[in-house]
Amino acid sequence: MQELLEELHQRYLPLREGKLADYIPELAKANPDHFGISLVTAEGQVYQAGDFERKFTIQSISKPFVYGIALEDYGREEVLRRVGVEPTGDPFNSITLDEKSKRPFNPMVNAGAIATSNLIRGTGPADRLNRLMQVFSTYVGHDISADMSVFLSERSTGHRNRAMAHLMLNFQMIGSNVEEILDLYFQQCSLLVTSTDLASMAATLANGGVNPATERRALANEYVRDLLSVMFTCGLYDFSGEWAYRVGLPAKSGVGGGMLAVAPGKLGIGIYSPLLDERGTSVRAIQVCQELSSRLGLHLFDVPFTL
Ligand code: GLN
Repeated sequence: MQELLEELHQRYLPLREGKLADYIPELAKANPDHFGISLVTAEGQVYQAGDFERKFTIQSISKPFVYGIALEDYGREEVLRRVGVEPTGDPFNSITLDEKSKRPFNPMVNAGAIATSNLIRGTGPADRLNRLMQVFSTYVGHDISADMSVFLSERSTGHRNRAMAHLMLNFQMIGSNVEEILDLYFQQCSLLVTSTDLASMAATLANGGVNPATERRALANEYVRDLLSVMFTCGLYDFSGEWAYRVGLPAKSGVGGGMLAVAPGKLGIGIYSPLLDERGTSVRAIQVCQELSSRLGLHLFDVPFTL
């Protein structure tokens, strides 16, 4: 396994296609050569290659995990009333709501993630943020911190997200504390992780919600399938169908350059490489996941035929 990760790191390091995200000004400061690949098994065995210690902001990869907190806090029915589970075939920042229900289509697009951040219980903004950070710490297996400059950079430029939040306020899908909700959303996006942290988060989902290294539960077992379902159908936005076809694993990408994929019952994959394609997904991460899936036989529907 170790050799395989090193081989993939060497093979794809020269791939310099894609661009750094620059609509959040701070993200444009990333080094395009940084490239980390990590794999954590559902038993907690860790394999890592390249820049696996390099920290970057989690961005949209936070979305399924915050969705998990909302499910724990409000239950399936109430959460479903606020956020759907239908793929959009649209980019992550599309300003659309379901015409009839006024819900965002799913929790993986920005509108859905902002609606989800509104569903974290707490006595106030600080309490909600602490709660969220504690859950993320359980997923990664150690304390987690946020990148203040990325947070401020997105907060002062994220007008498209602000527009979406106001559209949802107009339909009473979120409360009037719009700036507070957006702050929590921008804060969750600015959490700092490594590729190994992402692999641990994925391995925790692969292991039914329990971090295999610390044996601490991060998510109630009954909701693990909800996270994996929305990641499978919506995790890569308007690339989700082709991803399901080619890679066949629930996954989530972020514009910070991170990507995680889950092989349920088996392992979690975490990758960092900040050069993104036009959909905001890491170019090297797509290649590595595709190759890991085929070399390790991970595609969910690739079931060996036995009589
Ligand atoms: N914070 C980013 C945004 O709201 C997250 C987008 C992403 O990672 N796809 O635009």
